[in-house]
Amino acid sequence: MIIVMLGPPGAGKGTQAELLAERLNLMHLSTGDVLREAVAQGTPLGRLAEPYMARGELVPDDVMIGLIKERLGKPDAARGVILDGFPRTLPQAQALNQALAQIGQKVDRVFYLRVPVDELLVRISGRYTCPRCGATYQRRQPRPGAEERCDACGAVLEQRPDDRIEVARRRLDVYFEQTAPLIEFYRSQGILVEINGMQSIEDVLKDELAALPAR
Ligand SMILES: [Zn+2]
Repeated sequence: MIIVMLGPPGAGKGTQAELLAERLNLMHLSTGDVLREAVAQGTPLGRLAEPYMARGELVPDDVMIGLIKERLGKPDAARGVILDGFPRTLPQAQALNQALAQIGQKVDRVFYLRVPVDELLVRISGRYTCPRCGATYQRRQPRPGAEERCDACGAVLEQRPDDRIEVARRRLDVYFEQTAPLIEFYRSQGILVEINGMQSIEDVLKDELAALPAR
């Protein structure tokens, strides 16, 4: 079974991918993990990807497709995978379909987590990270002027530059511009299921489990 998770930053895609993977005993493949693993192992594709990652640039589609294909062929992915963060663009989705067809597989289900932009901005800009222990926190209404401290270790929390509201707004613009065609692509294949991302984590998961293809 191959499941693709789609959703803008802040929609809870990573959390849901992890929960679904655990529940269904599938492998959770996030783009970042696949890249880091290949680079760490020094595979030929990993070596191709490394300079792009070091420069903070997007890894070219053909390299990324190759990495995903290679990863799908490993024994721990045999039961199936949940793709999180890939594909991100229409050419990537088309290339993924082709690559899967070559190994006799296909995408079985695509979950699109729908959350209004206003809520996404609140969620992203309310995200704080502990620089010491890495814990993350959601502050819906940070107290102005007051330092927010980590509950676990007491360090002063920081906001990642990516999560500041102006940057968050730009990230969302880019996401919707690139991903809208992807949603239509999967919808036309009859495998897209839209999930109301405004529900609790448990209810989102329940909706996803109820919408799995019969096997
Ligand atoms: Zn901490």
